[in-house]
Amino acid sequence: MISLKNIFKSYIQGDLDVPVLHDINIEINRGEFVSIMGPSGSGKSTLMNIIGCIDRPTSGEYVLNGFNILESNEKKLSMIRNQFIGFVFQHFHLLPRLNALENVELPLIYGGISKKERRKRAQEVLAKVGLADRMDHLPNQLSGGQKQRVAIARAIATNPSFILADEPTGALDSKSGEQIMNIFTQLNKEGTTIIMVTHEEEVAAYTPRCILLRDGRITSDMKRVFT
Ligand code: ADP
Ligand code: MG
Repeated sequence: MISLKNIFKSYIQGDLDVPVLHDINIEINRGEFVSIMGPSGSGKSTLMNIIGCIDRPTSGEYVLNGFNILESNEKKLSMIRNQFIGFVFQHFHLLPRLNALENVELPLIYGGISKKERRKRAQEVLAKVGLADRMDHLPNQLSGGQKQRVAIARAIATNPSFILADEPTGALDSKSGEQIMNIFTQLNKEGTTIIMVTHEEEVAAYTPRCILLRDGRITSDMKRVFT
């Protein structure tokens, strides 16, 4: 599903070309649950932005669901993002004036789905993340963990190929963080592909595959079997 080959990324800072990612090679298949772990500044968000087609690598090859990303124009990339990727962010990115249900419905509006179907789908995914009784709450009436669950519901509402989550537990207390990881684990058991970034070992411990990033290089890519 995802194939990154010889990915390099550098940022231009003034006259300097600052390298951030060096020769990244990753293959991710449908159904995987992967964490990308590394210290602050190791290039995790840069890599997530590349996988999410938000930013382009300086060189290399990225093929997503058969689409050659480096050769795709902005319009195509926007279509690929909307159709294939559900984003979850550290700080939730919910619209403050919309309630939980309306926030989840939003990507379905862009998808051109009828109002009745949208409502039904949004209710379904909110119930899935345990928020059946919070649908009419505004974001500021919800706890951090609940906000992140709304964001997850929004991410899965469109049935994307995969969820991309950058530090999804980073703004949460450890108990809410555990809840989020349990929801991800459940979604993955039901077939959702999830790629997430974290700098916390306890969080990465939930995923069957963990890729370690250090100074922009992959230093380990490890699979383990949970019994
Ligand atoms: P992480 O998410 O692991 O903390 P980042 O991918 O955010 O790491 O950053 C990796 C390196 O790239 C850091 O040294 C950071 O300062 C630099 N960097 C990130 N984004 C930009 C940018 N837009 N312009 C210039 N440098 C950047
Ligand atoms: Mg980051």
